[in-house]
Amino acid sequence: MSMTLEAIPVNSLSRHIEPLKDALAAAATEVVGSGYYVLGPNVRAFESAFATYCGAEHCISVANGTDALELSLRALDVSREDRVAVVANAAMYGTSTVLACGAEPVFIDVDAATATMDPLKLEAALAAGGIKAVIVTHLYGQLANINAIAALCKTHGVGLVEDCAQAHGARNDTGLAGSFGDIASFSFYPTKNLGALGDGGAVVTRRADLADRVRMLRQYGWTQKYTNGIAGGRNSRLDEIQASMLLLMLPHLDQWNQNRRSVAERYAAGIRNPKIRTNTSAGQSYVAHLYIIRTEERAALQQHLSENGVQTDVHYPIADHHQPCHEGRFADVALPQTELDCATVLTLPCFPELTDSEVDRVIDACNRF
Ligand SMILES: *Cc1c(COP(=O)(O)O)cnc(C)c1O
Repeated sequence: MSMTLEAIPVNSLSRHIEPLKDALAAAATEVVGSGYYVLGPNVRAFESAFATYCGAEHCISVANGTDALELSLRALDVSREDRVAVVANAAMYGTSTVLACGAEPVFIDVDAATATMDPLKLEAALAAGGIKAVIVTHLYGQLANINAIAALCKTHGVGLVEDCAQAHGARNDTGLAGSFGDIASFSFYPTKNLGALGDGGAVVTRRADLADRVRMLRQYGWTQKYTNGIAGGRNSRLDEIQASMLLLMLPHLDQWNQNRRSVAERYAAGIRNPKIRTNTSAGQSYVAHLYIIRTEERAALQQHLSENGVQTDVHYPIADHHQPCHEGRFADVALPQTELDCATVLTLPCFPELTDSEVDRVIDACNRF
C-alpha cells in the first residue's frame, strides 16, 4: 500500500482551537450583545485570573507583547540614553523596545545549556556600571537562570523585566515566570502557549507603583480622563472579545504545557544521531514553547526533514546585533554563543495536539539523516 502522509506542521492552530471552537464562539457572541467592547468586565476578570495564576498582585492587559515589554521599561523610567542589558538571540523583541525608549541596548551573551542570558556575563556588565535595567527572556519556554539574575539585579539596584512571551506557566521552586523580577511582560499572540484569537498582551507585577504607571501608559498617559499626566503614553488596550477567549483558555494552560513537555521529552529520548544535539530541557521550568535541536548541517537536515514530510523552522536566524536595521551600529559587538546558536538551531514540530505517532515519525526522520 502506498499512501502519502500529510506533512507534520511546526504548529497547528486549527487543531489547537478545534475542541474549544463552540465555547469560544458562544463567548464571542455574548460580547457582541453586551455593549462593552474595550476594557470591560471580561478584561477585568481576565486580569484578575491571570494575576492569580502568575502569583502576582497586578495584571494590566495591553494590546500585544511588544507593548507589554516597552511599557514595562517605561514604567521603570527607562528613557533616552539609559543602558539596558538584553540578549541578542530573541528575534529583536527586547532590543526593539529598548531602542523605542531611546535607550541603548547592552548585549549579553547566552549560556550554551539554556540559550538564555548568561549570569556571569551579566555580572561583568553590571560591575562595569551604568546599566539601568535588565530584560531577561525565558526563551523557547525555558526559565532563564532567573534566581541568579534576580539576585544580581538586586545587589546592583537595577530593574529587572522578565519577557515571558514564550513561558506562560514555567516555574521553579521559588515561583512562576513573571514573579521573579520587578515587572514582567506576556504576549497572547495566537501561537504562544496561551494565545488569543488575535493580538493581546499583559504586564504582571507585584509592585503597585509600577502597575499604576502601566495603567496610565496604556491609555494615553492619562492620570485622569483627558489629563495627560505622564509622558510616554499610548493607546494599548486588550479588547473584550480577546479577553473572553483568554478567560476560557487559561484553565487549559497547564495541561497544554504538559502535553508540549511530553512531546519534548519523547524527542530528547528518541533522537539518536551524532549529527544532531537534542535539547534536554525537562521538568516544570520548561513549557516547551518551541523544541529546538542543534546541528552543523542545518540546511541539509531541513531539506531531509521536508522531503520526509516534517516541517521545520529557525528561531532565530539573525542575531539582534546583526540585524540590517542597525546599519552597522553594533559592528564591534561579538557574542560567540549567540552567533553559534543562530547558525545551528532548528525547530521541530511541537504543539499540544501533536500525536505520539507524529512524534515518532519526526524522530525516525531525524535518526535516518
Ligand atoms: C512573541 C514575542 C514577543 C512579542 O509579542 P507580540 O505580541 O507579538 O508583540 C516578545 N518577546 C518574545 C520572547 C516573544 O516570543
